[in-house]
Amino acid sequence: MLFRVFIACVLTTFVLPAFAMEPAQQFEQLQIEKRQLFFLSLSLTLPIIFFLWYRRLLVISILTFLLSVFVYERIIESMMMAEHDYRQSQHTRDKLKVISTRLQIDIEKYLSTLAGFSVYISSKPELTSEEFDQYAEILLEEDPKLINFSAARDLIVNFVYPLEGNEKVLGLDYRKHKQQRDAVLQVIESRKIMLVGPVNLVQGGAAFIGRAPIYTKNEKLWGIISIPIDMEKLLSDTILKAKEAKLNLAIQNYDINGELISTFHGEPILDNINSQTSINFDVGVGEWKISVSHNGSNNELPQSIVALRAYFFIASLLIAFFLWFRFRQESLRQKLESDLKSDHDLFVSIGQVARVGGWKIDESLEIQSWSAQSSLMIGNWIGFQPTNLADFDSVLSNQDHQMLISKVRAALNSSEPFDIEIKISDGDNGPVWIRAISEGHRSLDGDYLVVTIQDVTDKVLTSKLIEHQATFDSLTGLPNRLFYNDRLEKAIENAKRNNLKLAVLFVDLDKFKPINDNYGHQTGDDVLVEAANRIKKCLRESDTVSRLSGDEFAIILNDIPKYSLVLSIAEKILEVMQQPFVLDKKSIYLSTSIGMTLYPDDASTSSGLLRKADQAMYQVKENGRNGCQFYTKEMQIQSEFKHELLSELVVAIDQKQIIPYFQPILDLENNNVVKCEALARWTKHDGSFVPPIDFISLAEESGLINKLDLLMLNSACNSLSKMKRKVNLSINISPRLFHTKDRALESWITAVKKLSESINITVEITERLISDDSKKALDVLSQLKSFGVRIAIDDFGTGFSSLNYLVKFPVDIIKIDRSFIMNIGVEKASEVLIETIIALAKKMNILVIAEGIENEKQLDYLRNKKCNFGQGYLLGKPMNENDFCTYMDKKAS
Ligand code: C2E
Ligand code: CA
Ligand code: CA
Repeated sequence: MLFRVFIACVLTTFVLPAFAMEPAQQFEQLQIEKRQLFFLSLSLTLPIIFFLWYRRLLVISILTFLLSVFVYERIIESMMMAEHDYRQSQHTRDKLKVISTRLQIDIEKYLSTLAGFSVYISSKPELTSEEFDQYAEILLEEDPKLINFSAARDLIVNFVYPLEGNEKVLGLDYRKHKQQRDAVLQVIESRKIMLVGPVNLVQGGAAFIGRAPIYTKNEKLWGIISIPIDMEKLLSDTILKAKEAKLNLAIQNYDINGELISTFHGEPILDNINSQTSINFDVGVGEWKISVSHNGSNNELPQSIVALRAYFFIASLLIAFFLWFRFRQESLRQKLESDLKSDHDLFVSIGQVARVGGWKIDESLEIQSWSAQSSLMIGNWIGFQPTNLADFDSVLSNQDHQMLISKVRAALNSSEPFDIEIKISDGDNGPVWIRAISEGHRSLDGDYLVVTIQDVTDKVLTSKLIEHQATFDSLTGLPNRLFYNDRLEKAIENAKRNNLKLAVLFVDLDKFKPINDNYGHQTGDDVLVEAANRIKKCLRESDTVSRLSGDEFAIILNDIPKYSLVLSIAEKILEVMQQPFVLDKKSIYLSTSIGMTLYPDDASTSSGLLRKADQAMYQVKENGRNGCQFYTKEMQIQSEFKHELLSELVVAIDQKQIIPYFQPILDLENNNVVKCEALARWTKHDGSFVPPIDFISLAEESGLINKLDLLMLNSACNSLSKMKRKVNLSINISPRLFHTKDRALESWITAVKKLSESINITVEITERLISDDSKKALDVLSQLKSFGVRIAIDDFGTGFSSLNYLVKFPVDIIKIDRSFIMNIGVEKASEVLIETIIALAKKMNILVIAEGIENEKQLDYLRNKKCNFGQGYLLGKPMNENDFCTYMDKKAS
């Protein structure tokens, strides 16, 4: 834009005057050449100026411009001046013509008057004074410029008119008059009228003398006649006219030979030929020359030139000012640009040194600005140029990415700044931590955030290291006592909140000191590291082991469903620690003492639990080391009892001391026995009875249940096939059977398949089995179905999670749990539930057995509600084979 304005200004400045002067020039070749030169140089100069401007060489372009303006002005001025001079000389010449013509006419008039007089006298050679006077008087009256008439017969003046004042002339003999003789003789010789002078008059003043020769008819010289013409009066008119025209006047006369006679008015200007104009005209036999030149007006500049100069002056001032202004703007802009650039460079290098980056983000989470350092810090390469916050997904973990987005959103909405640390996904040089600090801004285009990021990897790593050193044991890498206490407190809180149990184990290596003394500290350390690893392997993911000091370790076992689990883990640790430690080709043997406490049974605080576990551990040491012990006596007794019972159970299963008892299941409509449930019963050799609740759970914990279930299946079928009355069998299986890695399940399925050929079998499973591993369960249950085995859901209602499985699995029977039957007539909710189960089962074509019917009221209720079958002490307790036979007989009779 500015450049176009500039071009327009410059073109106007140069071209406008050129056109202004054009029309008057056409006829002068010189002017035409000047104009061509002008346009040629214009076409050369303009590109140069524009080029300089374009190259921003502003000072040079200003100077070039001014210089060319000056040159152009001179050219145009000289052209205009020539034009002006030409016009002026034309004008002067015209005036001069007028002036000279009048003067010439005047003189001619006098000379013809003289000629007339001479003719008069020649016709009257004997002229009298009176006649002369008469004639002269008439002529003189006509023209005051004529001073007198004098006639000289035989060249002696004898006629003068008027005589008065001219007396001296009378009698003048020309032949004797030195000054006038030659002139008079010239007139006579040439026979022409002559005008000479100016001469000073005897009577004063100056005059031109006109002389004419007078010859008589016979060509005889009579004499001459002369008239002096008052010079002043003759020229006065001419001089006045010249003055009016502001012209310097010079009048000169020349003789016949062209020789200058005199300059009788003014001074001709010789040096300025151009400004001077002259005209020659004949006067008698001589010649006059009238020259005029301008009266001082040449020094005055013509107005057009003044206007031209003013025009150029103002135009160049304006354009120079314009250029200067532009130059100033340009240099300001350049300075700003260079300041900005140096600021930017400074920021970039500060950013690089300090490892600080930043970006600007708008309300739509678009990134408006992004520093190069940010690319290096976040993307790990300069080409990382996110345009939206979503693009961070490639460098941040999903969690950190979501966190960043929510923080940015919150900061944009609430103007609350954030200050967060985020971890950039591991690059080649490991993870990088960035601290991002936001600052909210408002603008007309909407709110935006400026986020400054700082590389805090060193700080984070250092604090992590410090934290690790403060919380972890440097030798084994296990949490130290401090961290352990913290974790234990958190575990206690969690257990309290979720109503769970947890256990603390205090583990101490027996006779560790001699290892240090005998094998050296390095070996001692190696043993500790290995011991730590072995302990870790015995634990679940959710458990914690830490090294408290020296050879002491402490363990937290979270979520303990049964204390027996604690015992089994402790026993496992005891076992693995007894394995030899092979170090440096040496086998080192160790044993361990473990003290155990339970939350909330033994203590409710972390320090209490640990202290009591420590005490229990000392008890083990006192009892001869290499063992484990609970802090609570009862628990310890139970633990010991269980330990003993387990060994007995192994033998009991092997020796088939555990036998099936049969509890009848009756059709509630007709009271017929439809089947019996086999329930395991263990009577020891000493006659003592072990409740199923104790040995079944122990069998489950120890994995013996698979053997037990198979034993029960075989024994029950064996008993029933021996009976004379056929009765169907309902058998329990543990969910554990489905989870064993040995071939127990296959063996059991094979047995069921075989036995189901002779006996109608129902398998009782729990809801847990189905929800644990539905794929496998469905598989097995489908197999069983294919043998004609029925499936019953035991303890129905206690593990309600979803009833979906009733559709998905081939369920034939539901056994409503005893806890609901117990509440018949007691709790309305249980009754509603029973009714609902019965209705639901009916709809799904599933049969219903009510468990644990103990009284008539319950029985009546269930009959009323059309429950299909019933089982319970009221209808028949679990009985041994013989008793059950008797019962059946009784029923049949
Ligand atoms: P369950 O399968 O629910 O068996 C029914 C339990 O209720 C039996 O207890 C039975 O004696 C008891 N019972 C039956 N009628 C009544 C009654 O009217 N009142 C009361 N108070 N109790 C009644 P038991 O025999 O002590 O068995 C306990 C649990 O042990 C069984 O519950 C079953 O889950 C499990 N079990 C028993 N034998 C075996 C077996 O051979 N294999 C497996 N895996 N589990 C078995
Ligand atoms: Ca059962
Ligand atoms: Ca049951």
